[in-house]
Amino acid sequence: MAESIELPSRLGILPFRNKVLLPGAIIRIRCTSPTSVKLVEQELWQREEKGLIGILPVRDAAETTAVGPTLSQGVGSDSGERVPKIQVGASDGHKVDGKNQQEVIHWHNRGVAARALHLSRGVEKPSGRVTYIVVLEGLCRFSVQELSTRGTYYTARISSLEMTKIEMEQVEQDPDFIALSRQFKATAMELISVLEQKQKTSGRTKVLLETVPIHKLADIFVASFEIGFEEQLLMLDSIDLKVRLSKATELVDRHLQSIRVAEKITQKVEGQLSKSQKEFLLRQQMRAIKEELGDNDDDEDDLVALERKMQSAGMPSNVWKHVQRELRRLKKMQPQQPGYNSSRVYLEILADLPWQQASEEVDLDLKAAKERLDSDHYGLTRVKRRIIEYLAVRKLKPDARGPVLCFVGPPGVGKTSLASSIASALGRKFVRISLGGVKDEADIRGHRRTYIGSMPGRLIDGLKRVGVCNPVMLLDEIDKTGSDVRGDPASALLEVLDPEQNKTFNDHYLNVPFDLSKVIFVATANRAQLIPPPLLDRMEVIELPGYSPEEKLRIAMQHLIPRVLEQHGLSSEFLQIPEAMVKLVIQRYTREAGVRNLERNLAALARAAAVRISENEKAVPVSKDVHQLTTPLLDNRLADGAEVEMEVLSMGVNNHEISSTLRIASPLVVDAAMLEKVLGPPTYYDETAERVATPGVSVGLVWTTFGGEVQFVEATAMAGKGDLHLTGQLGDVIKESAQLALTWVRAKATNLQLVAEEEINLLDGRDIHIHFPAGAVPKDGPSAGVTLVTALVSLFSRKRVRADTAMTGEMTLRGLVLPVGGVKDKVLAAHRYGIKRVILPERNKKDLAEVPAAVLACLEILPAKRIEDVLEQAFEGGCPWRVSSKL
Ligand code: ADP
Repeated sequence: MAESIELPSRLGILPFRNKVLLPGAIIRIRCTSPTSVKLVEQELWQREEKGLIGILPVRDAAETTAVGPTLSQGVGSDSGERVPKIQVGASDGHKVDGKNQQEVIHWHNRGVAARALHLSRGVEKPSGRVTYIVVLEGLCRFSVQELSTRGTYYTARISSLEMTKIEMEQVEQDPDFIALSRQFKATAMELISVLEQKQKTSGRTKVLLETVPIHKLADIFVASFEIGFEEQLLMLDSIDLKVRLSKATELVDRHLQSIRVAEKITQKVEGQLSKSQKEFLLRQQMRAIKEELGDNDDDEDDLVALERKMQSAGMPSNVWKHVQRELRRLKKMQPQQPGYNSSRVYLEILADLPWQQASEEVDLDLKAAKERLDSDHYGLTRVKRRIIEYLAVRKLKPDARGPVLCFVGPPGVGKTSLASSIASALGRKFVRISLGGVKDEADIRGHRRTYIGSMPGRLIDGLKRVGVCNPVMLLDEIDKTGSDVRGDPASALLEVLDPEQNKTFNDHYLNVPFDLSKVIFVATANRAQLIPPPLLDRMEVIELPGYSPEEKLRIAMQHLIPRVLEQHGLSSEFLQIPEAMVKLVIQRYTREAGVRNLERNLAALARAAAVRISENEKAVPVSKDVHQLTTPLLDNRLADGAEVEMEVLSMGVNNHEISSTLRIASPLVVDAAMLEKVLGPPTYYDETAERVATPGVSVGLVWTTFGGEVQFVEATAMAGKGDLHLTGQLGDVIKESAQLALTWVRAKATNLQLVAEEEINLLDGRDIHIHFPAGAVPKDGPSAGVTLVTALVSLFSRKRVRADTAMTGEMTLRGLVLPVGGVKDKVLAAHRYGIKRVILPERNKKDLAEVPAAVLACLEILPAKRIEDVLEQAFEGGCPWRVSSKL
């Protein structure tokens, strides 16, 4: 390698795409293309003496933007050896003739002569294609004078770029060169040391530094790094030795730095690893020492407490085995370890569950239970009777598989409080589980522990809260569960309610069976129709329709007011709400089927009273003998606002005692002014007359989840093309009813004397718009049929409907009136709204049995068989057109 090489003036050229072979580098290449095979064959294989070839870098066409000197191919000579011109520094190349017509070759104008250290020839079968594997060693740089082709490959006329011996000696004297060499050697030495240290080898590479001339060493080092093509080219172009050395020093140094950075990172990672391993070992040792000393830390104390709790939880044996396994695992874990906390919380929950704990079954006293129900709830005779029957069966056969009771009715009618009365009658604890809006099965069954933040389902959670395994569990709003992609909560509930399956209820979080068979389930719903049928099948529906105003008044006087007063620390000695005022609250401030808002309003009055009383207390001067006081006997007179002054006679009680117990001014009696001040202006008033003041409006009765409601229907006509517009968030059924009603009215237009001639189209030149006010509330159902017809007839006849009459009923295309559901709620709603007459389908008459007699007494019920009967009753003085028409 050290010897200087005599280069021939012309060399066969092997192009290297985007790669440089530097002097001193050795590479192994496989030649398969016909051009390179030909070149190797002719220039290396067939030569007797050792042949040389030139390796010339070429640049991809895509990389031509930042090119330095390039050669472009010129026109060939006619001797077969075509002579290309050399264009140094040109940035574009010419196209090569022949096979690769389109390819532009950007030749570099400097290359490296190379000799073959090893050659092997292969013949591929069956094609017979010849390939060569050549091991090449880069020898010295040359520059290209002229490029030409010989047969299929290139040759170049070249001149060597190596320095002569004399030139070399001169350079070696140059102090700059000497300094640069020293610097290079030092850096190279450092690199070698680092590498040897890393690979645990020694000595061999260092020998190179001593024996190989420094300018060659520079090439050899750089050739061994993975550097970019541009930098390789720069190295190749460094003809000047000083330039070459400084470039090489820079590259060696960079390589050294990158190795050091990589080493630092590795050390850091290793350091961290060993730190946590060390910590683990230390902790183990610490634990062992503490065990020896009998010294336990808090965590372990906790675990012992947990174990004790688990032991006393009374788990079945299979569950006990499971938790012991989990506890053993937990004990082996470090508190900082992931999974420790979740495992611990899991065991805590299991230990907290009431596996055995139960409320003691009291010997059921049916009489006492009945009294209790009566004292808690006004009315509801039928419901109470059914509950007593249910309890009686339980008394005779405690493990009877009776149906699950399901109270169905609008909000605030006492469903929850009835269920809690059942619990207290049975002497059991009561727990309420809200199912409203539950769409995810996991809400019932829990999430598996693999999920982060997983929890048991609502049932298990409820049992944990109540702490006994035999509570009365209220599944509230069971009709509001829905199913979606996250599963079907109803199917999970089905398992819960099935006595066959609920003995081994499997909550996904617990992952062990829990016995739910001792729980008494009671459900509530607003509408039975919305309960999934398989669930409904397991339940006995007990309907609680809304209350009439009279019932509400009684409930308020007997139950709500005493309760509200007590809740606010008051009594009738402080505050009195006369019946007349309660009536006003019922009429003007609430129009619900239940009594929840009524209770809320009464509570508002109690709050206001509490403030006033506590303010007045200080202001009332208390004389020694004369006090303003009240007794229950005086209630009625006080209710009228009178204040009574009485002389207190000493009855053996000292004055001090009397003054402290009777330090009360006359009770605060709620009047209309206070009502308005506390509750604000009335929310409801009798609006029916106002609403039906113009033709085209009729009064319907509908059913909602809040019970019955009065619903107005408005129709109007305007210039148009006979279209029907409908608004008010309507469902498909109600839209069809509207279409049907319009068709019927159009068909009967002449009979009804809405148009003079049979042929005249009622819709000629006009559009009809029907609107259902309370536009934000979705509406659907067929029961608005008769109301729609009435509104349309009123519109076309320009006659107003009666303000005191409301109606409900489905109609057929031929005008028959069909029965509808929710009659009791609807009739109650009509009564609430102050309606006096109700038009009902004839076939719904039987449903009136459910309506309280007091309500029926205030109403005139008008059965209708055909729509004409409805019209007859809906207009003042009957249907005026009936006489003359053929109806
Ligand atoms: P729901 O569960 O039907 O929505 P709640 O049971 O919560 O209704 O009842 C609301 C309030 O009305 C409770 O304070 C309840 O005691 C009271 N209440 C309802 N109906 C009656 C009744 N018939 N007698 C006495 N209080 C009643």
